[in-house]
Amino acid sequence: MTYLSLIAVVILILNTYPVIISRDLVFLSKRNTVASQAVQICTSLEALDMMTPDTVSRVMNMLEVGGLSTIVVLNSDLDELYRIGRNAEGYDDSIVENLVALAMSGDNEFLSKFADGAFMSYSVVPIMSEESINGYVCVYEYDNVEGNIIIGLQRDLFQISCGLGLMAIILSFIYSGTFTSRITKILNAIESVREGEYSYRINVKGHDELARLSDEFNSLTGRLQSTEEIRRRFVADASHELKTPLAAIRLLSDSILESDNIDIGTVKEFVSDIRDETERLARTTAQLLDLTKLDNNIVTVRSAVDCANVAERVVRALKPIADTKNVKLDCDLKKDCTILATEDELYQIIFNLAENAVKYNTDGGSVTVSVDKVDGQVEIEVEDTGIGVPAQDLPYIFDRFYRVDKSRGREGGGTGLGLSIVKSTVEKHGGQVAAQRREEGGMIFTVTFPYFLFTNQGEK
Ligand code: ADP
Repeated sequence: MTYLSLIAVVILILNTYPVIISRDLVFLSKRNTVASQAVQICTSLEALDMMTPDTVSRVMNMLEVGGLSTIVVLNSDLDELYRIGRNAEGYDDSIVENLVALAMSGDNEFLSKFADGAFMSYSVVPIMSEESINGYVCVYEYDNVEGNIIIGLQRDLFQISCGLGLMAIILSFIYSGTFTSRITKILNAIESVREGEYSYRINVKGHDELARLSDEFNSLTGRLQSTEEIRRRFVADASHELKTPLAAIRLLSDSILESDNIDIGTVKEFVSDIRDETERLARTTAQLLDLTKLDNNIVTVRSAVDCANVAERVVRALKPIADTKNVKLDCDLKKDCTILATEDELYQIIFNLAENAVKYNTDGGSVTVSVDKVDGQVEIEVEDTGIGVPAQDLPYIFDRFYRVDKSRGREGGGTGLGLSIVKSTVEKHGGQVAAQRREEGGMIFTVTFPYFLFTNQGEK
């Protein structure tokens, strides 16, 4: 509606403004031509000693004044001394009388009007003799040539503006139609996504803001979709991981309860299995809690931590387990490898990697934990000569609940959460973790952190 009123205003301006301007220009030119002709006649008559009908007619006959429709010469008593063009078209005596009355003050008077497609211009000039007024020259011009030009201009402008207006209205209807349909598409998409249909994508073509809005919407729903998929998978995996040990515990306890003459040795064996399962349940729930904390980005107070010290503590803690598995546990730790982190979280990262290196090792194998500064970064490397990860599994080992060998991982007490906790914790502290297979067998896990030089002033 506002748009249509705007079009109407534009058409109105287009129709009136140029016509008014052109009319004013003609009025201005008439003031020059008609008035100057009256002045020219007046100057010639001022030379006369006596103004009589005869003398005036003689002067007028000598003058060449063209284009005027009526010329009237009056004496000071307003008696008509000369007149041509008695019945000129549009001529109005009362206008002349009024102008003469005004000219009595000694000034030249002019009036021009546009009516019925013609310009009608009047000019009255007083004939001066010394200080007094001797008479008046009144001239009148009827011009319908320029009037017709103005009328033609008005008609052309009207036709052009009508055409333009019609076009603008049609275009505005087309535009508002497509605009509404594009907005409707976006609204439908928002509704579908609100209902949980995250795979919904909008197809709004173009290069304008609406197309950009749709692209942004699509990428937003894309992210929502993948987050939702991860969440669903995680919930499914987590409940499966919790259900499995619970089912085992139930089976083992039923076996004890339902057997009448079960020997104490078997009971002990079953109860020990039940304890293993509960331990695994406890470990899984603890790790799930750790992951939830990491997902929620809970802020921890960080300080300068020496990686070599932490790695040394990990090696000391794992030594007894490595010894029972006949795995050699070595370390190569350089000084001045400080990073900005929390000591507990760094311990957990190195412990998880080194524990895996021992756990997935072979009899007589070895594990080396090294800490060094490389290219201005601190690099922690855990290398083992163990069973390694098959190439096809390598891209997934940091995924939650991913185990290379599902059954063996579970039997060994693995939860499949250790590496995903490592990855999230490393990234939380601005680091990166990567895994690669050793050519001779085994794995190398590399964690890189930005180097943090601790001084009294803080970070450098
Ligand atoms: P888990 O609790 O099962 O050890 P992780 O997330 O720590 O879970 O590891 C995921 C899987 O990656 C493990 O099940 C194992 O198959 C494989 N893996 C991890 N570290 C090593 C390693 N050093 N050598 C061989 N396989 C490994």
